[in-house]
Amino acid sequence: MNIIFLGAPGAGKGTQAAYVSEHFKIPTISTGEIIRQTLKSGSEMGKKLKSYIEKGHLVPDEAVIEMVKERISKDDCKSGFILDGFPRTVKQAEALDHSGIDIDKVIDIEVDDEIIYKRMVGRRICSKCGKTYNIDLNVLPKINGRCDVCSGDLIQRADDKLETVKERLKVYYDQTHVLKDYYDKQGKRVVIDGAQSLEKIAEDINKVLGA
Ligand code: ADP
Ligand code: ZN
Repeated sequence: MNIIFLGAPGAGKGTQAAYVSEHFKIPTISTGEIIRQTLKSGSEMGKKLKSYIEKGHLVPDEAVIEMVKERISKDDCKSGFILDGFPRTVKQAEALDHSGIDIDKVIDIEVDDEIIYKRMVGRRICSKCGKTYNIDLNVLPKINGRCDVCSGDLIQRADDKLETVKERLKVYYDQTHVLKDYYDKQGKRVVIDGAQSLEKIAEDINKVLGA
């Protein structure tokens, strides 16, 4: 099963993708995560992408499309995968379609901007492995400030600052929002009410996926 998680930044895509990933034993491909790792590596590519991320802007389509295609070609994606944070532009969606990769369902988690702000302020991520926690949503680590998986330090992402969040939302409405239409036309989009509790959202998604 090949799934896309659509939705504004902070809608809870990553958290829900992790549940589905575990249930179906298929990997999550998070472009944000891949880009953050690229930044950390200090490579030429990383240096190039840094300024986009810090401003809350999207990195160039060509760069992400390449990253995703390469990742999907790996063996562990053979029986399915989840795309979290990709596609974010019509160009990316078209590139996916043209590469012959079939998408079964597009899960669109919808939430009001107000809730999004709250969630992003509470978001903490592991500086080592990228696992996400949220101090406002009660997604807490067992030990305060430490990752459950790898014991890494939990930090707030630089782009989760209020000003950057505002810019990211603007970018979402300018460039990503049209994908609702794009996938409606393909009959693949399913809307999930993201204002509910994490458990209820997960339940709704499971129903859609027949889990
Ligand atoms: P969010 O919490 O907003 O979903 P992500 O971790 O998915 O954040 O992405 C963080 C940043 O990485 C984005 O603001 C953007 O700069 C970049 N990025 C991630 N995915 C893409 C993409 N598909 N196209 C362009 N830029 C991307
Ligand atoms: Zn970790």
